[in-house]
Amino acid sequence: MKTRDDFPVEVIRISKLRAAYICSRPTCRKFTIAPSLTGEMLVQYNGKVAHIAAAAAGGPRYVVDMLEEERKSISNAIFLCSNCAELIDKNNGVDYKTETLKTWKEEHHNWVLQNLNKSEADKNMSSAISTNQSGGITASIININASSPEKVDEITKHDAQTYLRSETVLNENQMHELCSSLIENAECKINNIERLNDICEFFNKAGNSFLSPSLNSSKIKFIKKIKPLTGFISSNFDKWPYSQSTNNFNIQLKPDYLRDTQYKKMTFEERQKWDELFAQLKKLVNAVYKYYNNFRKVVKHELHI
Ligand SMILES: [Zn+2]
Repeated sequence: MKTRDDFPVEVIRISKLRAAYICSRPTCRKFTIAPSLTGEMLVQYNGKVAHIAAAAAGGPRYVVDMLEEERKSISNAIFLCSNCAELIDKNNGVDYKTETLKTWKEEHHNWVLQNLNKSEADKNMSSAISTNQSGGITASIININASSPEKVDEITKHDAQTYLRSETVLNENQMHELCSSLIENAECKINNIERLNDICEFFNKAGNSFLSPSLNSSKIKFIKKIKPLTGFISSNFDKWPYSQSTNNFNIQLKPDYLRDTQYKKMTFEERQKWDELFAQLKKLVNAVYKYYNNFRKVVKHELHI
């Protein structure tokens, strides 16, 4: 007795091609093929054409009354990297519903379409476009977008979804809390500084670009300011007091230079050094906050969020 409705070879072949060999999970979008380092005629491959509704009874998202033909068809297939293919089936798929996977698939196809035939120069140009919308090239791009209301809607929808996903990494309140605690007390929660690194990583993924040039450009300006700040913090901050035990402990501008500690008093030179570092810190935080607020303004203006 046959127990699995596996995809025919042709369904597998076409699924991979339609996804451009890129994982369809929106927060992943890994390339799944690469040149092999062990032989010039070899290719590394790390993808999987996964079943949305399971191939066998009892499997993740299995639908009892689905016809065998339907179960084996391309409409029941989603292309993923092998990690994500494993992830969606964990705990028998409870965390990844059929609807979610279908949305991923549809959005991925749209994303591939939007990037079809675009050179790196095209992409760089659209990200470089910012406030000047009167120039020749810039104006023609804006006009192309503006000439089709459907396309404008699609862009706004895509960008709103990207922004909302970014908020699950770092939201406005967390950003405000982080910046004020750094500026006022030269300290922050370790989790919040990790969020800053995470938001940087999130926005650096090609799949998380905004289609609106002004949004993308204000986002790029904002994330450019993050590395100098997190770099400064990683070399000048330390856990203090050392006895903090929870995961989300506070880190502070070097305890060595703390004003009056129970271990020692600051010397004049140490105090001066600490003040200098604090001044540098404030500058870096202000830059991040300024460009974040600018980015938020553009988000409000373009996406009404
Ligand atoms: Zn993936």
